[in-house]
Amino acid sequence: MEREFLRRLITTIKCGVCGQPYEGENVTILGQRDDLWFLNVSCSACGSQALVAAVIKEGELPQLITDLTERERAKFRDLEVVGADEVLDVHLFLKSFDGDFAQLFAEE
Ligand SMILES: [Zn+2]
Repeated sequence: MEREFLRRLITTIKCGVCGQPYEGENVTILGQRDDLWFLNVSCSACGSQALVAAVIKEGELPQLITDLTERERAKFRDLEVVGADEVLDVHLFLKSFDGDFAQLFAEE
């Protein structure tokens, strides 16, 4: 159920390289920690891959956080659906994250 939801969610964002919307079938769910889901998505148009963090809380609008451009980040802030701090936290986390998801989710 949640997987289907995440697939639909990912189609609302566009490839950071070529600007094509992502397709739901190109999403791989890497893992979940609390409200945070980690997804890997590949663009069907240009083949580039992106790491996406999705914050899904019950009763709140879901948030997708990827390696956003400054302009996109400003747009997110304007929406005020999530605190800029939270976006920044995840953004910094993704920047420093070494990609070892097995280790990350083993810490539970
Ligand atoms: Zn692309």
